Parts: sequence; structure tokens; C-alpha cells
Amino acid sequence: MKNIHAKYGLTRVINARGTFTPLGVSRSSTRVRAAVADALAEHFVIDELQAAVSARIASHYGAETAAVVHWTAAAITVAVAAAMAGDAPERVAALPDSTDMPNRVVIPAGHVVDYGHPILTAIRLAGATPVIAGTGARCDIADLERALVEERTACLLLVSSRLARGAPLDLGAAVAAAHRQSVPAIIDGAAQDLRLPELLATRADLVLLSAQKYLAAPTAGLIVGRKPLVQACRAQERGIGRGMKASKEALVGVLAALEEREALDLPAWQAEQSRKVAWFVDQVRGVSGIAASSLPDSSGLPFSRVRLQIGPTHPLASAAALAVALRQGAPSIWVMDHAAADGYLLLELVSLRDDEMGEIISSLSSLSVPKFADRR
Ligand SMILES: *Cc1c(COP(=O)(O)O)cnc(C)c1O
Repeated sequence: MKNIHAKYGLTRVINARGTFTPLGVSRSSTRVRAAVADALAEHFVIDELQAAVSARIASHYGAETAAVVHWTAAAITVAVAAAMAGDAPERVAALPDSTDMPNRVVIPAGHVVDYGHPILTAIRLAGATPVIAGTGARCDIADLERALVEERTACLLLVSSRLARGAPLDLGAAVAAAHRQSVPAIIDGAAQDLRLPELLATRADLVLLSAQKYLAAPTAGLIVGRKPLVQACRAQERGIGRGMKASKEALVGVLAALEEREALDLPAWQAEQSRKVAWFVDQVRGVSGIAASSLPDSSGLPFSRVRLQIGPTHPLASAAALAVALRQGAPSIWVMDHAAADGYLLLELVSLRDDEMGEIISSLSSLSVPKFADRR
């Protein structure tokens, strides 16, 4: 529907903020949209759809198996529940009451992130008790081992993303430490689907991914990993996972998105991302008071973002004020402003069309003319 914003009186948004949930995360391709539309008109044996997704992920990524839930936030809760309850029906029925189950979940302090709610909430929802290892600045393997040797530990949860803080943790060594204590290791790699092979190579028991982020599927949380634990995740559909299940349209959309990912020419995709960033950086040369450069993703995702450094001569004087002005414009332009206090903004161009990048340049140009600021 081309005029969906006009029809319902909705703000037209240009999203240069990345795979951001409050802005609808990503844009699906024509093929994925068509698959979802078709699915909505049909009945399916849902277990067959789950099995089809699992088979595709297994054959393409060499993973053992996979299951789908509604979001990665749900995948975290369900994975923790699975580590505690296994597939024992009475344990599945008992949760979130985890009395008499191993219910401690170790997580490195720097990985205690907030992606819209605290990750600790997703753990506690299963009935588990988080145990935080190390400090925000650093968590060594020895810190993890100390936390893991306690009794009643069900799993080790790790996050690999740009949200993580502190000295980087060697995920492979952390997974090995968990396995030395016979504890399953789970990695929340929500935005890291492009790095799934690397995350699987850590030998983690489960890797959790958001299908609606760079895979650009409908909203879905993918649980990828070892068979018994993945089966235990599916068993949670009869327990606390009932409200976290994947819908038929999500399952079919994920299948279509996986098919596209398998056919993706990654070097060509990367070249296209580089072209967009280079074009944008070049255009900003004509805007006074702003210096643009290209900044590679710090977690190893295969693309760069645009870094806009706001100089003292800019009429709005600060990166934070520029981000607000962009957002208040029409269309409403959203950028990454987590480093605004350090004087810069980041723009992710992955999901943007050339005409939208042009609109951002126009807005940046008009906001950078001194008389604009005087008029306010
Ligand atoms: C996005 C994100 C989540 C949440 O994923 P949803 O699919 O939105 O629930 C969790 N962890 C990390 C690291 C994320 O980036």
C-alpha cells in the first residue's frame, strides 16, 4: 500500500538509525512480502513450517537444528526456561516457578544490556535468577568459572553486539568454560545474523537471532543450535512460551527471507553499502559545520556507517540539537545519537533508498544555514 502513511495519518519516517524496533526494524523485499501475504490466506501444519525453517538453517549454516519464536526477547526467556526444565512435562508446566530446578543463569556484567528492556527481565521472566560475573569494565574467564561452579546453574548467557560494554570477551573461551561445568551456553546475537557462522563456531549450544533485523523477515526470534535444547525450547509452547510463539506468516516470511539470504551475493551487497556511504560522505562536503567520515561496524558486521561530526560553527551548535531538529522535520529523520555527547551522530544507510539519502542531505543542508537558526 503506497499511501499507508497518508491513509492512516502516520508520520513519514526516514530511518537512518539501524534495525530499531520503535521504527519498525527493517524493510522486507517484495518476495518476502508476497510470501507473507500468501501465508495469511492459508492453513498449515505449523510443525511442518517449523521443520522447514529448521532444515533450511541446518543445510545452509551447518547448524544442528533451529526453532522460531516471536522475538529474540522471547527466545532468551524460552531458552533459559529450556535449560532449566528440559522437556519434562511437569517442569514445563511448573515454570515460572523454578523451585527444585537448576535456576541460576550466569551472565558477564558487560553483557547486562538494555535493548528496550533489561535483558535481566527476559531471564527472570522464565523464573530464573541472574548471576552477574565480573564487572562492567571486565569479566575474565576466571570470573565466569567462579560464577559457574556454584550449584543450581542452568546456563551461561552471552551477548554479542555493539550494546555490550567493557573489555571484549573471547566467546569461544567462555563457551568452553561453561562446557567444562556441563552448563549449556547461549549467545544472544540478535542483530548478528550476518555473523551466524562465527557465532556457531564458538560451539555455543544455542545462538539467538532476530529475523526482522538484517535478514529483513517478518518479526521472529530464531533459536539455532543443539537438538535436545531446541526441542526443549519448542516444549515451552505448552508452558510459559505460549504467548511467545511464531505466527504462520512469520514462519513463511522467515523461509522466504532465508531463501533470499542463501542467494545473496555478499561481496556485491557490501560494495553497494560502500557506494552509499561514500556518496553520502561526499555530499556532506558541501554542508558547512559538519564533517563526515565512514565508520566500520565495531562488532564485525560487514558494513560501515556514516559518522557526522558537528563542529562549533554549526548553527545548532550540538549533535544532540541536530538530531532533534532532524527528527522534528517532515519527513522525520532518525539517526543514531548515542554518541551525541561526544559531538557526533551515526547514520546507518543499509535500508535506505537513494532518494531518501538525498532527502537527508537536503535537511542537513537547510539546518546548517545560519539564518535557519536565527529564525527559530
Ligand atoms: C534487538 C536486540 C534484542 C531484542 O531482539 P527482539 O527481536 O527485538 O526481541 C536482544 N538483544 C540484542 C543484543 C539486540 O540487539
